[in-house]
Amino acid sequence: MNQWQIGDVKVTRIIEMEVTGGTKFILPQADREAIKPMSWLRPHFADEDGNLIMSIHALVVETPTRTMIVDTCIGNDKQRNIPTWTNLQLPFLNDLTAAGYDRMKIDTVMCTHLHVDHVGWNTMLEDGQWVPTFPNARYLMGRKEFEYWDEVDSDPLNEGVMNDSVRPIVNAGLVDLVGTDHQVSDELQFESTPGHTPGHVSVRITSKGQHALITGDCIHHPCQIEKVDWSSSADYDPAAALQTRQDLLNRYSDENVLIIGTHFATPSAGYLKHDGEKYWLDVR
Ligand SMILES: [Zn+2]
Repeated sequence: MNQWQIGDVKVTRIIEMEVTGGTKFILPQADREAIKPMSWLRPHFADEDGNLIMSIHALVVETPTRTMIVDTCIGNDKQRNIPTWTNLQLPFLNDLTAAGYDRMKIDTVMCTHLHVDHVGWNTMLEDGQWVPTFPNARYLMGRKEFEYWDEVDSDPLNEGVMNDSVRPIVNAGLVDLVGTDHQVSDELQFESTPGHTPGHVSVRITSKGQHALITGDCIHHPCQIEKVDWSSSADYDPAAALQTRQDLLNRYSDENVLIIGTHFATPSAGYLKHDGEKYWLDVR
């Protein structure tokens, strides 16, 4: 578990899984020989052999008035096409409770986008039914994102996801469809970061002069900070995703904004730096 304080806002990372290697299907250009020369990635984001290290985690964002969980991972009992992601039986909810967050007291859930590894714990299996894991929360989803997946649903990576992790909470009346610049509270605002999916958003945190950005998957792995043109195989519109990454680097490098990655391995956050030749993530 990692934790960060941004003014009055506390962000706590709840890890579902952290893995080394096996990520080539996500970032085809990030082979070992290409990763090895990027020494700043070691030891946190790549190993000595050039294998990428990645994480799937949720972030609990606690403000003076809200307790919001950002991205709900893969979830348990879900039948998926990816062998290491199917029928998981992981102690995610126990870890959430151990971190001090009773699922019944989460008042807001937000999904940066509606991919398989960002919506799973929206629901849980109870007596053969998918029921809301956070029944006392409003679930915030981008309208554009929802409308896209509501039509598609045949994407092989995302098969079954709408039916077991999104529609049950819509049917329970818990979903608010919002704009890509939705203001959640004084401290929390969505920021449009399209490309990975049509309605992808990041979350900007501002409190008492301190700032952070929860990326979502517009940057899948920190290697894309140096190799900004490396696309994820899951990107819906690679050109738009590249433009989003370039915009983020321009806007946030050498600024006092903590970048918290949605798949960045431990320690999962740092500051964007630029030296005229390249960009990197400084985790000190
Ligand atoms: Zn993802």
